[in-house]
Amino acid sequence: MRTVDVIVIGGGHNGLTLAAYLAHAGVDVLVLERRAEFGGGLCTEEVTLPGFQHNLHSNFHGAMPFFPPFGDFKLEDRGAIYLHPPANTGMPMKDGRALVLYTDELRSYEELARFSPRDAEAWLELRGQMMSHVEELLGSGYSPPIDDPDAEPYLAKELDGWFKQGVTAMSAVELVRSRFENPHVQALLLFHMAVGGWDVREPGLAPLGIAFLAYITNWQLCRGGSHHLAHLLGGVLLEAGGDLREDCEVARIMVEGGRATGVVLSTGEKILARKAVVSTVDPHQTFRTMIDEGALPPGMPARVDAITYGHGDVLFGVHLALDEAPRYTAAKGNPDIDRTFNINIGYERPEDLIEHYAEIDRKALPKVPRLQVGVNTLFDPSQAPPGKHTALLWQFVPYEPDGKDPSTWNQIKHEYAERCIAAWREYAPNITGDKILGSYAYSPYDTSRKLINMRRGGFHCAAVLQKQAIYRRPVKDVGTMRTPIEGLYVGGSSCHPHGGITAGPGYNCFQLLVDDLKLKTPHVGNKFWEPVRDQWRARMRSMGFRV
Ligand SMILES: Cc1cc2nc3c(=O)[nH]c(=O)nc-3n(C[C@H](O)[C@H](O)[C@H](O)COP(=O)(O)OP(=O)(O)OC[C@H]3O[C@@H](n4cnc5c(N)ncnc54)[C@H](O)[C@@H]3O)c2cc1C
Repeated sequence: MRTVDVIVIGGGHNGLTLAAYLAHAGVDVLVLERRAEFGGGLCTEEVTLPGFQHNLHSNFHGAMPFFPPFGDFKLEDRGAIYLHPPANTGMPMKDGRALVLYTDELRSYEELARFSPRDAEAWLELRGQMMSHVEELLGSGYSPPIDDPDAEPYLAKELDGWFKQGVTAMSAVELVRSRFENPHVQALLLFHMAVGGWDVREPGLAPLGIAFLAYITNWQLCRGGSHHLAHLLGGVLLEAGGDLREDCEVARIMVEGGRATGVVLSTGEKILARKAVVSTVDPHQTFRTMIDEGALPPGMPARVDAITYGHGDVLFGVHLALDEAPRYTAAKGNPDIDRTFNINIGYERPEDLIEHYAEIDRKALPKVPRLQVGVNTLFDPSQAPPGKHTALLWQFVPYEPDGKDPSTWNQIKHEYAERCIAAWREYAPNITGDKILGSYAYSPYDTSRKLINMRRGGFHCAAVLQKQAIYRRPVKDVGTMRTPIEGLYVGGSSCHPHGGITAGPGYNCFQLLVDDLKLKTPHVGNKFWEPVRDQWRARMRSMGFRV
């Protein structure tokens, strides 16, 4: 029977990040991945036609400048190329105008001023506030969660001091409405927060919105497809002496005398862990399927059952192989919209977004598809044959369409994909049927079967809600990333800070393991590793908080 120091369950980017750091710290680590290919949400496949690459899950990578393994493992030297389109995000409008935000801040200011000079000034003011405190905002995300109820009121007071107007009690909608006057500006900012996969109406989440706005023009594209990032992380892990096994579904976590001692695969094979088992999959699998109820404290199984999955983070996707790139009628308002990376179709006013959310609350299939659109081949022609293009159209939907069983998606997804394409065509009329060489509809039901940790199709693997934030994420019993079972840790997207390609949860779990397993400081490249945001942790510690 094989024995290693640490077993990591799940080979998504969080599992790979954690394991890569552990391997550099001299730990004998093994990642076990259920699917035949590791990477989880870093998944690129030729689902329409040969030669057309489609990112079925993550596409817009917004966290690259602060993604810790990127710098620590020098991923650029290993071949990672991230493209950062200058016209970064925008919205064409039915009336022929277009609003585009640029990586060049002055251009964004001028563009906002075309819509509302007052909003351009308000943007500068908010941006100044965000940038003065961005290190603290990132510091809280890239550190293990603070297990101290007193920390939250303290931080709320700080945030309210920085951003004024009592932001910590606000929803993102309230924040945007309190600061900006133009409905189109409001809608584009809200779109940005919404595509983070959380409910912009939820009170108390405005600070999260501010963190998203700080990087509003930071959407980047992994050249060659998102899966390339997974390969680079896997390469780092293997090179440092770690191991990775695919096609290995973990069925059980072995617990003896209150301690996690290893795992059992669905084939019955056992693998032992000397020091720790870390689960980066969803809490339901970890605590309700892999572990006997009796091994958990009383009440915990019920609390795990009460976790909300799939709220504001459930997407329906349409992937297209195209004969030509879209040409928006709104290009007459601003020609740059034709080369904008992350596009909002249909949320022209905040009410559009609120109405869309209300439909999802009722489990109604949205009447008017409102989309997030990306045409990657405008920036990375290698993702399609010469002269051809790909497109993705995403929209938020209910997991249970019209309240029916989620498998109903299998019957309706092709027709619904056509409606999404028609909604896009209203803005980009050149995308007629003959320009569409191939299409692929990918429902949230498909997501939940491909990546079983994305329960109910929710890509945060536990919804981002106030009740499931910071040390309460995804449930208080494991909010520190330690669990009631000795030697068992959690470190995937259901943990602090949240999902998305941030590497935050895996990185935070590593910081915890450095302390708990008394690991030697890893040597990464030619320098000793330091947690990137350690000043923030040090400050919180000096205030007496348990960090
Ligand atoms: C449609 C869609 C679009 C998205 N778009 C974006 C985007 O543009 N930008 C962005 O940043 N994020 C996006 N995301 C979210 C992002 O993909 C996830 O939040 C991210 O992949 C989570 O990373 P992870 O490592 O925590 O989990 P995952 O990537 O889900 O990896 C977990 C791994 O664990 C494996 N696993 C599950 N159960 C077991 C088991 N029992 N045994 C062994 N292995 C197991 C899974 O197969 C998987 O490989 C999107 C998600 C979806 C669904």
